[in-house]
Amino acid sequence: MDNMKSIINKHNKKVTNADNDTNTDNQVQCNCRNKDQCPLDNKCLTSSVIYNAQVTTNNATKNYIRLTEGTFKQRFSQHKATFKHRKYTNSTELSKYIWKLRDNNQDFNIKWTIISRARLYNNISKRCDLCLTEKLMIITAKPDRILNKRSELISKCRHENKFYLRNN
Ligand SMILES: [Zn+2]
Ligand SMILES: [Zn+2]
Repeated sequence: MDNMKSIINKHNKKVTNADNDTNTDNQVQCNCRNKDQCPLDNKCLTSSVIYNAQVTTNNATKNYIRLTEGTFKQRFSQHKATFKHRKYTNSTELSKYIWKLRDNNQDFNIKWTIISRARLYNNISKRCDLCLTEKLMIITAKPDRILNKRSELISKCRHENKFYLRNN
């Protein structure tokens, strides 16, 4: 049991260090070949973020708020795939909305921004700021403009389990 504890502690130290090493200012923040086409102002490699996708049409503005523990760019590629292939229509509230606009032949524009950054679940604080911040952002957003479902607010932190799984 003690042995297990020390393994976990070692692992936690590693996790914390890795955390500090990412996103420092001297690191490359964008790996887009064409810098003008970076979806996030040349900061697409930022990780542990809450991002907002703002979808504008000629008569509506909608926001979709989500967290990602990895880089924004990874998540962005996933979203792009769901907009491209119809079989992914229902994968997120955002893709559902995009396909609805497409089916109605409506033009739209998507603007991606980082609205907050937070720390992932941490075994010392026993809380996940990333999940808490995401929920806070969804709660405080204008209800008539938000694409997220209220039910997403009750979802449990997905990072806590993952944290321990790696030690088993
Ligand atoms: Zn980029
Ligand atoms: Zn979490």
